[in-house]
Amino acid sequence: MSRKEPEASAPPADAPADALYERLRAYEGQTASAASAGKDPVNEPMIRHWCEAMGDAHPAYRGPDAVAPPTMLQAWTMGGLSGHPDRSGAYEELSALLDGAGYTSIVATDCEQEYLRPLRPGDTITFDAVIESVSPRKTTKLGTGHFVTTRMDVRADGELAGTHRFRVLKYAPAARRSEEEPKARRPRPVVNRDNAGFWAGVAEHRLLVQRCADCATLRFPWLPGCNACGSRAWDTVEASGSGTVYSYVVMHHPPFPAFDPPYAVGLVELAEGVRVISNVVGVPYDKVRVGMPVRLEFLRVDEDLELPVFRAEEER
Ligand code: ZN
Repeated sequence: MSRKEPEASAPPADAPADALYERLRAYEGQTASAASAGKDPVNEPMIRHWCEAMGDAHPAYRGPDAVAPPTMLQAWTMGGLSGHPDRSGAYEELSALLDGAGYTSIVATDCEQEYLRPLRPGDTITFDAVIESVSPRKTTKLGTGHFVTTRMDVRADGELAGTHRFRVLKYAPAARRSEEEPKARRPRPVVNRDNAGFWAGVAEHRLLVQRCADCATLRFPWLPGCNACGSRAWDTVEASGSGTVYSYVVMHHPPFPAFDPPYAVGLVELAEGVRVISNVVGVPYDKVRVGMPVRLEFLRVDEDLELPVFRAEEER
């Protein structure tokens, strides 16, 4: 790793950073969880559920001589919703120390497992975990912080069966872009010679649909040729503006700049028969329904952009 570049954001605790690191390092080697017991012995139902969820049909995981998939290692140690009662305080102290220094966010970065012997139904699981290492302060794209690695040793009937290393980054988030930059604008449509006529129509508040000059098939979105007969000759018809929601999705994630989830994206079937992807407005995102009647209108997004959208017409 290169260290020559200056750090992108100032660390939250600048002067005492080295002193902090010394305090953090004191936790290396300390117990994170001592002599915990798995809530269930290795068992066939959990193996079966895991294999179904993963789509893993390997025969080694079935039948009288079944072993558990090695990648299930951590599953046998998980506390479920009720958790494990016997965690040591060291990990919480380390976390609190990092929180207090401003490294309040956490992200899991990677995990490594090592398998020493197969686990079989009936094996009793015990495990303990140690804080293996705390990194010096690092600056990442997410922000500045420390990587903390814990190693869990998993035993079956007292015999070491595998290890599970888990690394997190505790960090102070870098300043968010939205605080530094003006509010993002919606993406611009790509206007080219194949669709320029459509956008010219939008500028006049007309939703234009292409019509094949040879076979009269309507088409949308705009294309250079007719999918029905191959003709490249066309004219346009202006949509009446009435339609129905043919299908829709509600966008929750991922967030895009300039969009404010959740919001509904509709596939609207126009009265003319073609379908248009657009926003459905005038109704909460969770009230959009297939078959809902909608009517075209034009939304002024910003000084340079106007878009056709569809307003719900229900309950008039
Ligand atoms: Zn045609």
